[in-house]
Amino acid sequence: MRIVKVTVYKADIPLVAPFRIALGATEVAENFFVRIDTDEGIHGWGEGSPFPPIVGETQAICLAAARDMARLLIGKDPLDVEARVREISSFLPHNTTARSAFDMALYDILGKAAGLPLYRLFGGSPRELLTDDTIGIDTPAAMAEKAVKFKEEGFHAIKVKLGTTPEEDIERVRRIREAIGEGIPIRVDANQGWDLTAAVEALTGIEGFGVQYCEQPVAAGDLDSMRAVRERARIPIMADESLFDVHDALRLVKEEACDYFNIKLSKSGGLHMALRIAAVAEAARMACMVGCMSETRLALTAAAHLASARPIIRFLDLDSALTHTVDPIVGGMEYGEGGRIILPDGPGLGAEVDPAFLGKCESFTVS
Ligand code: MG
Repeated sequence: MRIVKVTVYKADIPLVAPFRIALGATEVAENFFVRIDTDEGIHGWGEGSPFPPIVGETQAICLAAARDMARLLIGKDPLDVEARVREISSFLPHNTTARSAFDMALYDILGKAAGLPLYRLFGGSPRELLTDDTIGIDTPAAMAEKAVKFKEEGFHAIKVKLGTTPEEDIERVRRIREAIGEGIPIRVDANQGWDLTAAVEALTGIEGFGVQYCEQPVAAGDLDSMRAVRERARIPIMADESLFDVHDALRLVKEEACDYFNIKLSKSGGLHMALRIAAVAEAARMACMVGCMSETRLALTAAAHLASARPIIRFLDLDSALTHTVDPIVGGMEYGEGGRIILPDGPGLGAEVDPAFLGKCESFTVS
């Protein structure tokens, strides 16, 4: 089998409301889709959702990178995913979001050629998948109101964005817990917004409010502070922005800097590296979450297949499509009651992009 054509679509997805985290606010998910066509009539889909302050890529950077990656792939065998992924990652090692879309499309082709959904291709089985839903940074009152809505919708866990000041953040969690009562775990994410002192103050202040874990309390590169937060605070720490690839995973384990990993395809460069991170996590008995940026149900489907195939991925944060005003995906994972994720059983991803949506997108083709 040979790759004969790659088409890249610029996909802008407006959000229902601006979504604010410690690193900035998003109003439109500036994503892109990649379609890889082969000479045997099988095609694969991938998607990237670049969040610049974390991955250092914008939509424009991804589109430019995608053109060069497409040229690299034309004429080659898509089923040799190992070789293709190594080629694009040695070509542009830091462009993880651009790479993740190609990685995803290659696995989609592999799954279709094998006649297996990706979770089966990875040797996994169907299992219960429950995502949380996330509240962006806002006033404590507005966040508490949203938490009540999520509770009424039946979500089993609520994720809360923090990372301004310890005083404000403690008030946010206090008001949310007061509003929703006991029973539903709260997960918090500071997105690097604190330093060591602020992190210890904030986490000590919220430790009585049923917080399951805290993502990325301090700067991504500052593992010394992350380890110190972990030693001084009682709430478990999850590495997110500190974890891109398998080398980061090994370093985090060695430095004892976290309790959990947050794997995201847009940081790992796709499923190939995500599977390697999951293997390190299993060896280190480090439970993982699989998270998202602002992907549609296409890339979320890939992440859900990964989670289904690797039980070390115990937590899911695959809620981004719930914040979008349009859903351009046909098939793919569906949201059930209370954040239950239902995976499709078709081969590969089991998801396609709606041609009517693509017809309105700017695109280019490399063949
Ligand atoms: Mg995070």
